[in-house]
Amino acid sequence: MSTYFKDYPDAEGFFGPYGGAYVPENLKQEMVKIAEAYYRISKSHDFISELRQIRKHFQGRPTPVYYCRNLSERLGGRIYLKREDLNHSGAHKLNHCMGEVMLAKYMGKKKVIAETGAGQHGVAMATAAAYFGLPCDIYMGEVDIAKQHPNVLRMKILGANVIPVTHGQRTLKEAVDAAFDAYLNDPENTIYCIGSVVGPHPFPMIVRDFQKIVGEESRTQFLEMTGELPDAVTACVGGGSNSIGIFCGFLDDPDVKLYGVEPLGRGTKPGDHAASMTYGKPGILHGFKSYTLQEEDGSPMPVYSVASGLDYQSVGPEHAWLHDQGRVEYVTADDKETIAAFFELSRSEGIIPAIESAHAVAYAIRYAKEHPHGSILVNLSGRGDKDIDYVAENFGILGN
Ligand SMILES: *Cc1c(COP(=O)(O)O)cnc(C)c1O
Repeated sequence: MSTYFKDYPDAEGFFGPYGGAYVPENLKQEMVKIAEAYYRISKSHDFISELRQIRKHFQGRPTPVYYCRNLSERLGGRIYLKREDLNHSGAHKLNHCMGEVMLAKYMGKKKVIAETGAGQHGVAMATAAAYFGLPCDIYMGEVDIAKQHPNVLRMKILGANVIPVTHGQRTLKEAVDAAFDAYLNDPENTIYCIGSVVGPHPFPMIVRDFQKIVGEESRTQFLEMTGELPDAVTACVGGGSNSIGIFCGFLDDPDVKLYGVEPLGRGTKPGDHAASMTYGKPGILHGFKSYTLQEEDGSPMPVYSVASGLDYQSVGPEHAWLHDQGRVEYVTADDKETIAAFFELSRSEGIIPAIESAHAVAYAIRYAKEHPHGSILVNLSGRGDKDIDYVAENFGILGN
C-alpha cells in the first residue's frame, strides 16, 4: 500500500495546489475545530466499530457487484455494476451522511444542518438524523421545494425540518448561504454536513474517507468473482463523492484505468453542460480551489444537466489533483446518450439507474463496444425511481 491516503490531503487540506479552506476567519476557525475532532474521533475504536455495525445492519452493506450478462453478451466487453442503488435509501449518499451525523453525535452536537438542491442530500441527511435521534434542519430554496415535492415529503416523514429559503433566485446557492449562516450562528451546538467531496477543508477529506468503503468492497468482490482486477472503473462526477469512493479502491493499481464521467448536457456551449473538469479552469469557488466553470468576474457560470445531482460548477479538489497527475481521465456523456443508457440498462438487466448513474453506464457501454476483451466496473451510484416521472414526461416510456 502506498502512502497516498496519508499524504493527501496535507495538514492544510491541499491535494497538490487544490483544496484548502478559502473562507472568512471565523469560519476557518470552526473548520479547524471540525478537522481536529475528526482526526481524533474517526480513529477511535468505538467510532470504527459503531460505523461497521451501521453499514452492515442498517445500510445493508456490502452492496453486491453484479455482472451484466445480457448487456455484455450483446455489446462485446464485460460490464459489472457496484450496486450502490441497493444501499439503504437508494444511493451512495447515505455512506457519508451516516458518517457525518455520527461524527456530530460524538462531538456532542445538538443539531445537524444541511442544504439541499434536488433533495437527495436532504433525504440522506434526514435518514441519518432519524437514526441518531438528532434534530435536522434542511435549507431548501422555495423554487426547489416546489419542483421536488416527493423528496420534501420524504424529509418531513423522516422528521426533518425543511426550511424554505425565500430570497434571491430561491435555489441551491441561497440555500447553501442560509445553511452556513445558521451554522455560524451556533457553531457550539450545531454542525454543517456537506453533500459531496467539496467545500473547505476538512469536508473533501471527511466525505472521501466515508465513501472509500465502496472502492474497498468493490476491489475485493471483483477479485473474488473473476480472479482478476477490472481493466477499467468508471463513475459519474457531480461534486465527485461516488466517483472518488470507488476510485480509492484502485488508486494503487496502475493497470486499472479510471474514468470520471461528466455531464455534457445539451452540448459544449457554456450554460449547456456542467463538465467542470473538461471545460473549466483552476479557480476558487465555495471555499476551495479546483477546476471551475466561472465567468471572467469570478461568478459561477450557469450550468445544466438532465441529472439534477450533477449540475455543479466545480468538482472536488482531489479530482483536480488526480486529473493533473494523469491518474484519472475525465470524459463526458451528453443527455441523449445518457437517456439511451438509462433505458438500455432498465430493459436488458431489470435495473433502473438514477439519471446521474446512467452517465457512467453510457460510458461503460461505449467502452465495452470498443474493448471486446475488456472489463469495466461501474459505480451505479443510485436507483432511478426518483426519475421515472421526469423521464416519462420528457422522453416517453419508450425512450425514443
Ligand atoms: C448526488 C448524486 C450524484 C452526484 O454526486 P457525487 O458527489 O458526484 O457523487 C450521483 N449519483 C446519485 C445517485 C446522486 O444522488
